Amino acid sequence: MDATQANPTYDLSTGRGLIACPRCDALHIEEDLDQGETARCIRCNTVLARPRAGAFVQLIALSFTSIVLLIGAVFFPFLEISRMGIGNATSLFGVALAFADGVLLPLVLAVLAMIIALPVFRSFLLLYTLMPLAQGHRPHAHAADAFRMAEALRPWSMAEIFVIGTSVALVKVAGLASVHLGPAFWAFCGLIFVNVAARAFMCQTTVWDAIEQGNALPAPGDRG
Ligand SMILES: [Zn+2]
Repeated sequence: MDATQANPTYDLSTGRGLIACPRCDALHIEEDLDQGETARCIRCNTVLARPRAGAFVQLIALSFTSIVLLIGAVFFPFLEISRMGIGNATSLFGVALAFADGVLLPLVLAVLAMIIALPVFRSFLLLYTLMPLAQGHRPHAHAADAFRMAEALRPWSMAEIFVIGTSVALVKVAGLASVHLGPAFWAFCGLIFVNVAARAFMCQTTVWDAIEQGNALPAPGDRG
C-alpha cells in the first residue's frame, strides 16, 4: 500500500503532518488511511500505521482482561510442589509475604513491580487514554502523557519473560518433586496471548491521531 511517499511539499494547515519511521527515521507525509489499509516505510518497510475498525474497543477489552488476569495471578496458587506425601502450594502474594523481612525483599519487590504492578498500571493508562476516544468524546486532560508513558513502559512489562523463566526453573524442580501448576501460572500464560492480541490491535499513529482530533473538539463543561 503506497499510502505514504517521500514528498518535499507538505501543508500543516490541512492537518497533514510528517511521520517518522520508528526504525530508520525516514520522514513521510502522513496520509489519512481507510480502515484496513497499511502504511509502510518506503525505505525499510516497517509498518507506520494500520488502522482497524473497532480497535479501540478491542484494546479496552484486552486491557480489562489483562487487569483481571494479573489480579488472579497474584492471589491464586502459582504452583504446588509435593514429595513423599508432603506438599506445599503458594501464590505470588504468599511468596512476597514469605520474603517480606529477608534480604531478598528488594528482589521480590522488583519482580512484583515488573510482572504485576507495571502491567496493571499500563492497562489503566491505556483505559484512561482510550475510553473517551472509543466513545467519540474529548480525551482526558492528560491522555497524551498517559499514552506516551504507556508506550514507554511497554518494554518493562515482563510477564512473558517471567513465564519463560519459571518454566525453565520448573523443568529442573520437576526432577526432584512432583510439580502441579496452579491457576496463576495459567493466568500468566493467558496474559501472553492477551499481550500478543493487544500488540496486533495497537496502532500508535491512529491513537495519536484520535487524541489530536479529540482535542480539537469543542471544550467540555457540558459533558456532565
Ligand atoms: Zn523505515
